[in-house]
Formats: sequence, structure tokens, C-alpha cells
Amino acid sequence: MTNKTQEVVGIHFPFPFPPYPIQKDFMAELYQVLEAGKIGIFESPTGTGKSLSLICGALSWLRDFEQKKQKEEARLLEPGADPLGGGRDQPPFSSSSCQEPPDTLRPAGEPDWVTQFVQKKEERDLVERLKEEQIRRRKREERLQQTRHNAQLKYATKRLRQEEEETESLLRLSREMLASGTQAQQLEQLESGEEELVLAEYESDEEKRTAHGVDEDEDDLEEEHITKIYYCSRTHSQLAQFVHEVQKSPFGKETRLVSLGSRQNLCVNEDVKNLGSVQLINDRCMEIQRSKHEKKNRAEEDKPKKRRQETKAACPFYNHEQMQLLRDEILVEVKDMEQLVTLGKEAWACPYYGSRFAIPAAQLVVLPYPMLLHAATREAAGIRLQGQVVIIDEAHNLIDTITGIYSTEVTGSQLCQAHSQLLQYMERYGKRLKAKNLMYIKQILYLLEKFVAMLGGNIKQNPNTQNLSKTGTELKTINDFLFQSQVDNINLFKVQRYFEKSMVSRKLFGFTERYGAVLPSSRLQPKLTGFQHFLKSLQPGVTEAPVEEDEARALRPTSPLMHIEGFLAALTTANQDGRVILSRQGSLSQSSLKFLLLNPAVHFAQVVKECRAVVIAGGTMQPVSDFREQLLACAGVEAERVVEFSCGHVIPPDNILPLVICSGPSNQQLEFTYQKRELPQMMDETGRILCNLCNVVPGGVVCFFPSYEYQRQVHAHWDKSGLLARLAVRKKIFQEPKRASQVEQVLMAYSKCITSCGQVGGTVTGALLLSVVGGKMSEGINFSDDLGRCVVMVGMPYPNIRSPELQEKMAYLDQTLPRAPGQALPGKALVENLCMKAVNQSIGRAIRHQRDFASIVLLDQRYARPSTLAKLPAWIRDRVEVKATFGPAFAAMRKFHREKSGHSLHHCLSP
Ligand code: SF4
Repeated sequence: MTNKTQEVVGIHFPFPFPPYPIQKDFMAELYQVLEAGKIGIFESPTGTGKSLSLICGALSWLRDFEQKKQKEEARLLEPGADPLGGGRDQPPFSSSSCQEPPDTLRPAGEPDWVTQFVQKKEERDLVERLKEEQIRRRKREERLQQTRHNAQLKYATKRLRQEEEETESLLRLSREMLASGTQAQQLEQLESGEEELVLAEYESDEEKRTAHGVDEDEDDLEEEHITKIYYCSRTHSQLAQFVHEVQKSPFGKETRLVSLGSRQNLCVNEDVKNLGSVQLINDRCMEIQRSKHEKKNRAEEDKPKKRRQETKAACPFYNHEQMQLLRDEILVEVKDMEQLVTLGKEAWACPYYGSRFAIPAAQLVVLPYPMLLHAATREAAGIRLQGQVVIIDEAHNLIDTITGIYSTEVTGSQLCQAHSQLLQYMERYGKRLKAKNLMYIKQILYLLEKFVAMLGGNIKQNPNTQNLSKTGTELKTINDFLFQSQVDNINLFKVQRYFEKSMVSRKLFGFTERYGAVLPSSRLQPKLTGFQHFLKSLQPGVTEAPVEEDEARALRPTSPLMHIEGFLAALTTANQDGRVILSRQGSLSQSSLKFLLLNPAVHFAQVVKECRAVVIAGGTMQPVSDFREQLLACAGVEAERVVEFSCGHVIPPDNILPLVICSGPSNQQLEFTYQKRELPQMMDETGRILCNLCNVVPGGVVCFFPSYEYQRQVHAHWDKSGLLARLAVRKKIFQEPKRASQVEQVLMAYSKCITSCGQVGGTVTGALLLSVVGGKMSEGINFSDDLGRCVVMVGMPYPNIRSPELQEKMAYLDQTLPRAPGQALPGKALVENLCMKAVNQSIGRAIRHQRDFASIVLLDQRYARPSTLAKLPAWIRDRVEVKATFGPAFAAMRKFHREKSGHSLHHCLSP
């Protein structure tokens, strides 16, 4: 690949090929946003090389930033230099460890000698810090250099590790043999392995730095967090694609990149990984780390405790020496997650922890959304945002994503199940638990009981057979919910901390995993039979018939208390920022309590506050007002800090034909409102339009409907009226399947049909795919080239305005956001924006590269409103034509496709 350096506005941007003008503009604007510490909203349609522009733009800035910083450091460390600049501009010391507050003001009237003294001290401190940083950086570079040139090191250490492992396991075996005669007697009332289920003493409600298994060994791995770029995207495949782009880019060889993932993706301990669910893997991993720490502490104290017994070996991959080695291996060469896992297995080092140790020295950290957007996850991963750059890609649904991450739901079933399990747990281990443990368990039991009562049920009865007298949906503020549940006297923050520190959910899961199906203890049998039966009836995954090991694992449910833990945490949100939705269905088991986050900005505020710069990028970011108002303004970002950049498409402008069609061939006005869209004449007119379009469009036509229900209705109507048969003359008809597992199959058949029609000729010229906006075909699937020569949007896909969630959100926005003069109320604007976001997502599917071409047809006269047109992506908005009648629209379509494809076209303008 040629590596061309492009100079744009005096900045050098290495690029693998001569960039398009829009890529140059993108990189230049991105550079400025990062340099000036702004918040950028970047829109670049798919197919325009957005990832490459992000990589080359951002890494060019980082390169210059590092060079400037080093130069400045060198200058400051020269003898006789004036480190604080004597009033000059602030130097670029924004590595997180040495960022200064922008303006340190001196109190007025301070004597000169005090000012001088303070200034001298600051100078000395700064110089000291710079020196330390230099030493750390030099050490790291030396280490990485060594790793780069000494591949055998890895294998030598691997051998060493294997030897250690063997010795350790022999020692363990001997200890167990020796211990079997004594400790088993002391704990005879519990069965083997059961004591790990007993909650350890819960000492204090107060934060303890040492409580969460921080090993002093880990401090050795602590490094300065250099200024870096955090890049996050929605899916693992998008992240993997990005990493591959970095590998191929001119920065691929020299960038220190680390990919972060969950334990589910990165764990290499088969016993733990096979547990299946993220929650279980996380808890088991943390538990075995904890046993290691406890074991270590006990060894140090040198006095064996009778209460607990070592039952789980520490993870063999959790070895600091090996993980340090893995960290360096990660940093010397760009790797994707698969390569990371392979390397971790080879080197006997945990990739999950190894990658986290690589964060401080990495220049580019690639991670999934929740790891960046969820504060607790972010902290646990060791991510520090102070002074850093964050790029959030594929961000068109960012607001919904944050809302989703923090919104939780618990069903009546889960509440009853958790209560029953916890009660049994307390009865079995009550005497062994310390008072504080008992107190919190009782509080949790009380909370569960009251929540069930709020739904109108009784915690002591089977939720499947409890029919609720009152049904429907009710929405409450958090405070009202807590007050009416009569739990407002409980400190939920303390309960939340108890959950975290005691790991009660995990312990309970271990307990039910052991006894969930059959409680073998004869002593408990008579007392718990009813409960057991009830418990069993609630556990879908537990059956008496033997199931295959893997199948059993897949079916294994997570602990219901884990869900409740999330719900309780959500209830600690400020009253005005969330609501509780009580959904009472026929039976208690189907009813639920849902926490709805109304203000995602509260969780985004920290990101924009701490970061040096934040870039929110996507293929279709229109309408951007949502980001500006709901996310940034509410998070306290001043309007001047926000920069918008929207680039055109790489395709020549005449490769698209976007049309708004206001009436059909028989002059029927097109307005697909809820009242009108089901009228037979509307469905007939839509069919006639499609028939005409299918006559002039070659290859594939993708037609989007606002909902599954409406698509089915229209399909049935056309079937009856004979229109389907007319359509089938030109195009084979496919429908979006309801099940995600069938999507692949339908797409294959659709694409095969188009290819074969193109080769064979004949009357059938391709295929017609009837899809649903926001369905499985509207995101992530490309209809490039012949797969999508025309995209039709039937009506406007407004969200269901009657949904209580949406109504509450609208009311919240009306109350909190200012109404701009001459504009709709913020709540109403939200509905319109949600609709246009969905439209933009769907219609953007058809143009995927520079030589692609397609027509885009919006069927509804409401699209012609200037305020609606303004919400289309710039590259479509600039070309869109509004056609009041069908004749000129059809003529334009015929001309466009004739010119573009050169196919001989059949046309019949139906009356
Ligand atoms: S330390 Fe790593 S490999 Fe071991 S269980 Fe935890 S995540 Fe898995």
C-alpha cells in the first residue's frame, strides 16, 4: 500500500492513497476539534471512508501533540529555563498526570515574596514531574524495544510458568490430602465446597480502598496515563473492522493500540468462560481472584482460619509476570481481539487483565460503548478520561444507547424468585452470618416484598398463578415509587454498596445452582419442600431429565437477584432524571417494574467534562439538534464548544435521485397518517406506484414500511386485489422475516435472484424486498449496487406516541428544554427527530461506494415540509426534488435509471 502524505492547511496527514477532498476536509476539521478541545459532531455517509479519515486525522493530531510536548519538555528542562512560561501560553502538558488547572489565580494583595516563593515551588514541582515522566517513558520504550526484538522471551517465560503451575498443583494436592482429615471434621455440618457460599464478614459501609482485591503487585503495573484516543463503537465486528483499518493504515506499524473487551470475549480460562453469561463469568473470575488474595493474606498472617477453606484455585492465567509480558506484546504491534486471545492462551496470561494493564501507555484504546459510557464499568476497567480524547463512532443512536444502558426492568417472577432464594439462603446460613449481613439481607427481603406489593401481588404465593385485579401501566417518579412502596426509610445507596462489596448476588447464585433443582439436605427437606417446588417451577433452565452439558449451560439462568441489583442501583438516580413504570399484566409473573432514564446527559456529563475533546461521529447524524440539546446542552456543554461537520458523499451528485412524491398515479394524495393509511385507496395507490417503479428500476428495490403490522396489512390487501401478481411480473417479492435467524437466508435468496435475473434477462428484472423501518434490514445491511437501485419509504415512521415512555420523555423535554422561537415544543420535536433518524438510517443503505447509484423515493407529502427536508442528510437534502404529482416523478425516475444503467426499460404508467 502506498503511503502518501497529504498536506492540508499546513498539517501532514499520512494516508494510504490520495484522499478524496471530503476526507481531507474531515481530517482537517477533526484535527482542529482535537487541538482546540471542542466537542465535534461529525457526519460522513457510509462508503466515504470515515474510519480511515478518523484514524489518520486523529493520529496525525496525536503525533503532533506528542512532538510538541516533547519539545516543550526539553526546553523546560534546559538549565535556566522558565518552566511556568512567565505569562506565555500554556504549554501542552496535558498528559493526565500533569494537567494544570487553566488559570491559577493568586489572591489579591499577596506580598511579592509570597508570590515568588509559590511560583518557584511550582516550577520545581513541574520540573520534577517532567523528569519523572521522561524516565517512565524511557523505561517503557526500552522495554517495548526489548519485547520487539526478543520473541523467545515469551516462550521462555511460558515454560517457566508451566513449571510453576505443576509445582503449585502438586503442593495443592498434598495440602488437600493433609487437610482432609482435620478441616472436614471441623466443618462437618456443611458439605464440601459449600463454605464459599457463606458471606464473608461485612465490616463497614464505608469505602475501603483495599476492599476490592487490589493487589500490591498491580501497583507495579501502574503507569502514567499518556494522552490518548479512546475509540468506541457499537458492535464487536465494527471494532474489529476499525482495528483492521488501523493495521492497514500508515499508522499501523507505530501505533500502540489496545482492544478492550468483556471477560466474555477475552477470558481464556475454559472453566470460567464456559459459564456462558457475562455476569457469571465476571463473578466467577472475581471470586477466584478474591480467593487468591485471601489465600495470600492468610499466608501472611500465618494463622489458618477455621471458618473458610480454600476450595477454588486461582486462575492460572492471572499471573502478573505473564500479564506484564502480554501487556508489552500488545503494545508493540496492533492486534485485534482474536489475536489477543490467541496470544493470551500461548503465553498463559489473561488477555482481559493484560489488555487493561496496557491502557496507560496505549495511544489508541478501542472499546465497546458500555465500557466507556457506563461509569462503574469505566472505572473498573481502569479508564481515566481526564485530558483524553474520546471518539464515539456509529453514534446515530447514542442517546438511546445511553438510555438503554441505564434503564433496567425486573419482572414479578424475578422479584418472587429472588425473595424465595434469599429466604432459603438466610434460613440455611443464618446462624453463620454476621449481624450486618443479616440486617442487609432482611432489608433486601423487605424491599422485594414491598415491590411485589406495589404490583398488587403477594410475595409468598406463586407468581404464575397470581392474577392481578388491577392491570395496565402506571408511571411514577422515583420518590413517589419509593414512598408508596413504603421503602423510603431505607438507604438505597448503602444497600447498593452492600451488593457490590458482599457479592451477595453471586453467592446466592452459587447456592441456587447447587440446590436450585433438588435440595438434598434431609434436614431442610421437610421445611423447604414447598419453596423448592415453587423455586423449581420458576426456573426454566432446570429440568429433571438429563441434558447435555453445553445445553444445560446455555439454559442456566442468571440469578434473579442480579437483575434486582441493577434495578436498585437505578433507583438511586436523582428524582427528576428517571421514572418507574409499573406494568401490571394478567399475572404477577408477567408484570414488571421498569426504570426509565429520562436524562441520559447525567451520565454523559462526566465524559464531556473530563475529556479534552469528544467526537461523536456517524454516517447519518441528522437531525443533530437532539445531540446538541438533549445530550450536550443538558450535560452542561456551552454551545460555543460544539462544532458540527457534515460532509457530502464521495459519489458524483448525479448518482442519486432523491424524490419526495406527494401524490400517486391516480392523483390520490399521499399522507400515511394513522387515520388514512389503512384506507383501501391508500394501499392501492402505493401498489400502483411500486408497480410503476419496478418497471423502470433494474435489479433490487427495497421498500420500507413504518411497521410490521402495516407491512402485513398492505401485503394481504395486495394479495387480494391482485396487485402482488402484477408486481411479480417484474420483481420476485421477498418479505422481511420476523425471526432474526432467517434474515441471512432471505437476503441470500434476494441477492441470488437479482444476480440471476441480471444474467438471464427476461421479464423479471430483479427482486422487491418489503422491509420495516427499524427492523432487521434497516441497519447494518448494505444494499449496494444492484441489491438496492431504489429505496422506497412508505409514509413517515413516527414512533408510537401513546407509549408511556415516550409521553414521559416528551413531557420531561418540554419541562427542561427551552422552546426556540417559532419552533415546535421540544417533546414534539423529539418525535419528529426520531422519525427522521429512522428514515435516514434506512435510506442510507443503498449508496455504499463511489461508483454506486440509486434513487430514493419518499412517499408522503409531509416530507415536503421545509422543517422535515432540513432533517435529511446534507448529501440527500442538497439533491432532493419535491414532486407534487406522479407523472414528473415517474419521468425523472425513468430518465435516471435509463441513463445510469443503460438497460432497456419497460414502462407502463398505470392510471
Ligand atoms: S483471570 Fe482472566 S482468564 Fe482467568 S478467569 Fe479471569 S478473565 Fe478468565
